[in-house]
Amino acid sequence: LEKKIAILEGRVPQKYPDVKFLGYKERKRILVTGGAGFVGSHLVDVLMTQGHEVIVVDNFFTGRKRNVEHWFGHRNFEMIHHDIVNPLYVEADEIYHLASPASPPHYMQNPVKTIKTNTLGTINMLGLARRVGAKILIASTSEVYGDPMVHPQPESYWGHVNPIGPRACYDEGKRVAETLAYSYAKQEKVSVRVARIFNTYGPRMHVSDGRVVSNFIMQALQNLTITVYGNGQQTRSFCYVSDLVDGLLALMASSYTLPVNLGNPVENTIQEFAMIIKNQVPGCRSMVAKSAPVEDDPQRRRPDITVAKQHLHWEPKVSLQDGLQRTIDYFKEELSRTTFYNNQ
Ligand code: NAD
Ligand code: UDP
Ligand code: UDP
Repeated sequence: LEKKIAILEGRVPQKYPDVKFLGYKERKRILVTGGAGFVGSHLVDVLMTQGHEVIVVDNFFTGRKRNVEHWFGHRNFEMIHHDIVNPLYVEADEIYHLASPASPPHYMQNPVKTIKTNTLGTINMLGLARRVGAKILIASTSEVYGDPMVHPQPESYWGHVNPIGPRACYDEGKRVAETLAYSYAKQEKVSVRVARIFNTYGPRMHVSDGRVVSNFIMQALQNLTITVYGNGQQTRSFCYVSDLVDGLLALMASSYTLPVNLGNPVENTIQEFAMIIKNQVPGCRSMVAKSAPVEDDPQRRRPDITVAKQHLHWEPKVSLQDGLQRTIDYFKEELSRTTFYNNQ
């Protein structure tokens, strides 16, 4: 039983994944804020495997220790339980600043905290970067384009955001984060990179995260009604997490300092997306039903990735079908874990 619990909790095998050895000249000390979250933990895996020293800072608001637990005890890995709204004094060569709730129900739950994290938290990380001379990458979002009037969205588009709507705490928080980054770059000569991340999915998304991919897959796996908000004609473009991580690494390494869209340009309506998931879960008997629309829900979203292609030589590689398969497999396991505990 002990072994079964350990397997279900992902605690075995305890051996670390393969880590390359880097000499002290090549090895960097890299701070990842929000490193226990969905995207952050995948980034940490790559950085650790490359042989760097990684410091994760997280307050576990939406992240989990379990996402990085396989690195506990490794001498290149350090985890700090800290809220970035408060100052932080550590040393680093590079900072990936990802700490912020990302799912609409989560960021709307405490809008003031969301704004503080993206403004005060970002000031602290830029202050840290300034003090130690670190390069810093800010995780911005396609939400800076709001409900866009230009489609697909190039980086040159200034956006269409309601400053007092329910999404404003996040959208405007990220817009200020970008402004802060370029103000620190101009005034304090901090080296900044800004990634405008579009909808990303994959394993380690929280089962109750509330975003569309986790909701639809969990519903499909349990034969529950798939809940389409509004008429389902709104569109999104979904990027698999390993592609996004490759893009973040390429951006950090490049000399391009303006904002860069990172996302997959394959666009689907949410209604189509519900059917794609239903059809990819074997034996799924879920109904697809429409419910009340969400206030200020962006109606169209698709990245123009010309800049990323040209300057980072980056484009997504994983197809929606492959990415969804890996994600469905992950959620299946999560479900069996919950069932196992509920039956004890
Ligand atoms: P996530 O919620 O899984 O991860 C965010 C992490 O930040 C969590 O571990 C959370 O505990 C931590 N955090 C939040 N507030 C904090 C605070 N005040 N102090 C310290 N840690 C804090 O979300 P994610 O999907 O991994 O998103 C990561 C980043 O990418 C976020 O900045 C998000 O805005 C951005 N982003 C993500 C997507 C996406 O589709 N996943 C799209 C656009 C932008
Ligand atoms: N800061 C931090 N860690 C550091 C350096 C600074 O958290 O290693 C915080 C600091 O507390 C300040 C913010 O970052 O609130 C901005 O720092 P900056 O040096 O730009 O401004 P100042 O200290 O003059 O306010
Ligand atoms: N959505 C939905 N059903 C759900 C969750 C989300 O129809 O159970 C819709 C939502 O209204 C939006 C799209 O799916 O149009 C993407 O929502 P998500 O919360 O994943 O991210 P967003 O891109 O809005 O930040």
